[in-house]
Amino acid sequence: MGGTEQKYVNEAFAGNWIAPLGPNVDGFEKDIENYLGNSRAAALVSGTAAIHLALVMLGVKPGDMVICQSFTFSGSANPIVYQGAVPFFVDSEEKTWNMDPELFRKAVKSLLAKGKKPKAAIPVHLYGMPAQMTQISAIAEEYEIPVIEDAAEALGSRYNGKACGTLGDMGILSFNGNKIITTSGGGALVSADEKWIEKARFLSTQARDPAPHYQHSHIGYNYRMSNITAGIGRGQMEVLDKRVEKKREINQFYREFLRKAEGISFLTEPDSDYFSNHWLTAIVIDEEKAGFSSDKLRAAFERANIDSRPLWKPMHMQPVFKDAPGQLSGVSEKLFKNGLCLPSGTNMSAEDMERIKKVFRDIINEKQPS
Ligand SMILES: *Cc1c(COP(=O)(O)O)cnc(C)c1O
Repeated sequence: MGGTEQKYVNEAFAGNWIAPLGPNVDGFEKDIENYLGNSRAAALVSGTAAIHLALVMLGVKPGDMVICQSFTFSGSANPIVYQGAVPFFVDSEEKTWNMDPELFRKAVKSLLAKGKKPKAAIPVHLYGMPAQMTQISAIAEEYEIPVIEDAAEALGSRYNGKACGTLGDMGILSFNGNKIITTSGGGALVSADEKWIEKARFLSTQARDPAPHYQHSHIGYNYRMSNITAGIGRGQMEVLDKRVEKKREINQFYREFLRKAEGISFLTEPDSDYFSNHWLTAIVIDEEKAGFSSDKLRAAFERANIDSRPLWKPMHMQPVFKDAPGQLSGVSEKLFKNGLCLPSGTNMSAEDMERIKKVFRDIINEKQPS
């Protein structure tokens, strides 16, 4: 926590605003809007709920196809299935590890050939790295496919100077406990188009028609953020820039420390159009050059009581999505096999960093022929 969260939560108690509405919800939405620029926001219970509402509002129905980046967390894809629709998974390119625009185009064309125009496309900014949005948006526009930008991991990231989350027709953010800032659990739908935001607020509060009694003409959802958690969010927004700075320092620390290490490459901003919040520092290991695999490195960290994590397992490799169609190239599979997320917590101490360095030094020195 940054320090002022408790103050906002106390205000909620003092004002007796213990509900999914109140001054903190309004204030948090304003904070998000001011931070992103050119966007409105609806605070919700999770990023997954935000994607679900976006699909509902786009009229996604049973049997529809929705294109989704395969290399992501299941929260991107599950809401497609909530709607009874079919996820069509598109593989990644090697620069940003996100949706490959060429494969996206192929996917759209093959679906059109079958008379199944996709109802939406969900590109993701994985680990905070912006996807190639210029290309992706151009294709989406050409074929008139709405884009839901999954910026759950990319609050604070920018592409061509614009905030991630504001590049598609709608964007989603997550404030889950593992994200760059957190409300313990929470999310937001963002859009430059006010009508989506108003509709999301309506649908997320059980779709009550204006009437003194409870009247409903639509199926609603209980997806609105609570005034308590929004209080945490207001405090967290005050430290977001500091968090981004710290995450980028951690990324720089690893790059400098490992700059001479063979066979280790980083997820890297391709050029100055890309600004990543470096939520997690992620590497890929070429086992032949490095002399050790990502599995071996992860096990070495584990023995030192340090947590590291494989990259997201692509959705097309998940048992639950084994029958889903897709446009694949093997890129995400290879990244999953050889990649690792390094410890990236903003509260790591200098001592923690030394422990991490030691694991690297030991495993790198171990491979030297004796
Ligand atoms: C965390 C995350 C989500 C889901 O957000 P929740 O708030 O946990 O529901 C969706 N997509 C990606 C890429 C995520 O990392």
